[in-house]
Amino acid sequence: MMAKKAAVSACLLGRNCRYNGEIKENKEAIEKLKRAGCEIVEFCPEEACFGTPREAMDLTLTPEGVKALTKFTKEDRTTPVADYAETFFTQNPDIDLFVGKARSPSCGVRTARLYDEEGNLISEKESGIMAAEAKVRGIEAVDDENL
Ligand code: SF4
Repeated sequence: MMAKKAAVSACLLGRNCRYNGEIKENKEAIEKLKRAGCEIVEFCPEEACFGTPREAMDLTLTPEGVKALTKFTKEDRTTPVADYAETFFTQNPDIDLFVGKARSPSCGVRTARLYDEEGNLISEKESGIMAAEAKVRGIEAVDDENL
């Protein structure tokens, strides 16, 4: 692994920033990055924007495109997460690897789930809002489970 500076979902490092305050660390992935000599920069767009705990959200296909909507109240949270991602990558221009929590609507790289407006599953291979921004910027991006 040639990467030197890796942006990593904070929950993978053991921070209790998931929507329900649970811990979902991935020690194996973090050890792998450390062994490779990577500098780790953590991020959590959802905690920064909405606090913890918070209502979970889903990527939802709407007539206006893919949106991150809260599961029950259907609040559109796309823009705050996208703005956080843009600011994060602008402030950290030397990031050369993105490691996102698999299946997260913000951080999942190729594993985020997409639903239609009736709640039917359309795809399990989408990018979360922040992962999509990493990809647009040409940053190598991987789900933690595939590191
Ligand atoms: S998956 Fe991303 S948004 Fe969700 S808790 Fe982890 S770092 Fe935060």
